[in-house]
Amino acid sequence: MDRGSSDGQMSRKVWGRRNFLTMGFASVAAVVLPGRVGAGELRGAAEAVAAGAVRGDAARSAGGGGKKAAAGGGGAMTIRQVIDALQADIPGAPFPKTVDTIKAGDPEQPVKGIVTTMFATDAVITKAIDLGANFIIAHEPTFYNHLDETDWLGDDAVLTYKKALLNKHGIVVWRFHDGIHQHRPDGVRMGVMEALGWDKYYSADDPPLVVMPAASLGEIMEQVKKSLGIDKLKYIGDPSQSCRRIVFSPGAAGGRAQIAAIRKYDPDLFICGELNEWETSEYVRDARYQGKKLSLIVLGHSVSEEGGMQWLLRVLKEKAPGVPATHVSSGEAFAWG
Ligand SMILES: [Zn+2]
Repeated sequence: MDRGSSDGQMSRKVWGRRNFLTMGFASVAAVVLPGRVGAGELRGAAEAVAAGAVRGDAARSAGGGGKKAAAGGGGAMTIRQVIDALQADIPGAPFPKTVDTIKAGDPEQPVKGIVTTMFATDAVITKAIDLGANFIIAHEPTFYNHLDETDWLGDDAVLTYKKALLNKHGIVVWRFHDGIHQHRPDGVRMGVMEALGWDKYYSADDPPLVVMPAASLGEIMEQVKKSLGIDKLKYIGDPSQSCRRIVFSPGAAGGRAQIAAIRKYDPDLFICGELNEWETSEYVRDARYQGKKLSLIVLGHSVSEEGGMQWLLRVLKEKAPGVPATHVSSGEAFAWG
């Protein structure tokens, strides 16, 4: 893949920090997802899957069937070409071993519309269909495990329903996880820092550390909830404790990586998307017992990275000009009882 210097400059231009909050993060988070598709309709679609029918056949033949068919010819871009354009900015991409693969559908079809999201849930897929989009870019897995393996699920009804829904409407799902994180600077981190208004407090050269004007843990929690549209979050610490050094760890980095970051930066506050409750939180509890002033906030995985997937719209505007692109929030899975 050609990534010459001019392309590099372009990538900095396209991916550079921007005030994406002007796009209205809160309003995007409020996208209302439609109800479930009727069981009858899906039963038919499930049969289509069983029969091996591919709804995208017509689109595929219209697209000329080749990667290069639509290149520069004035025709519609194929989904594959959109993926290639996004990867052109990622150092080392396409990666030989990656989870950034096609999870469903035929990428050689012309792209009609794009939806970015954290999770391609049934509700997000249905929203994409309503929007007339045929390409979903999801940050996280579609089929309930990191590699999106489905053999272990067999003919599971939940899986079959989802595959049928995708198949019936010729929807392509591609995961953009490793790539957006491998971009320099990390696209997810940049998007979330901007959503929090903290982009001025972190350095792309040493991204996990955010050094802010001192504020109490309680004040920070209020600000985070407001900026990211979170109702409730989990925390460990004293709300009146002053915090200045924060380590921000989006997503689910795992206990060892999270604890290594705490050791490296010695922060007042560690903020993560998700943790295992037998790892980092227990380390923080013991550290506090021993007198360390270390606090913890758990945001929830989705919301801790969602800024990046919304911010991707800006990139798509330049990489796939003229193609309608929408961010659809997959929202929080949990309610609080
Ligand atoms: Zn991530």
